[in-house]
Amino acid sequence: MLYSVKMRSSLGGTHGEGGRHISGAERIVPEDMLEENVLAMLRRARTHERGAANFINVKVEEVPDTSIEYCDLIPIYQMNTSTKEEGRAVAKKELLRIGVSQAAVDSAFHELESLTDSMRGAIVMDAVSGERLDDRHERGVRCSNMDCENTKEYEARMGARGLGGDHPREALVLASKVANAPGTVAELCWSDDPDYVTGYVGSKKYGYGRITVMKDMGDPVGGRVFFVKPGTDI
Ligand code: AMP
Repeated sequence: MLYSVKMRSSLGGTHGEGGRHISGAERIVPEDMLEENVLAMLRRARTHERGAANFINVKVEEVPDTSIEYCDLIPIYQMNTSTKEEGRAVAKKELLRIGVSQAAVDSAFHELESLTDSMRGAIVMDAVSGERLDDRHERGVRCSNMDCENTKEYEARMGARGLGGDHPREALVLASKVANAPGTVAELCWSDDPDYVTGYVGSKKYGYGRITVMKDMGDPVGGRVFFVKPGTDI
């Protein structure tokens, strides 16, 4: 039997009641790994670079095998950049190459670059008109219920390529689920972790385009945009 473990945490109050979002994480793990994962999440919330959370919500649920859908991880390619400006210019070019319109690229960067604090989820955007389709403001839309089928094998292979660790794995798992969702054209992301400057552009068409530098070191504002085909039932 597998279990879903989800954590979200904030500082100074609960989410939506004055609290500042600190971190969120989720795993799907076998029963014998449940306790260590719950502890790891508590530790993560309390030692996060965005601050030590004092409101932490951990949810554990059984996941029936029959409810699970499997998909391949999208292939990784990398674009090396050394500044935020260079990284964002590369991301814009990549989104256009995937088929996102210039209007939607401009709208996405305008939305993300006007944030004063991170959102908890993603902006859902029409890939042609650039119109924001969700009405969830700073909550956005969260992709959830996902994990890598075999984390040990994943770590062994990716660690050997210098791409091991929680952050890259979680991003690749999320990007793969999003890319495989009906209607998705592309995704744009940079992290809200102040020390993590790498971002990506994801798509089913080309894969996970890792962009080494997409923001300034120390910047705690990150975000995501899911670009979808016009008419997608969001
Ligand atoms: P992170 O990659 O965890 O640093 O998150 C960067 C940004 O992506 C956050 O500020 C949120 O806006 C968004 N985000 C984080 N987790 C999710 C998720 N599960 N689904 C959708 N958007 C997310």
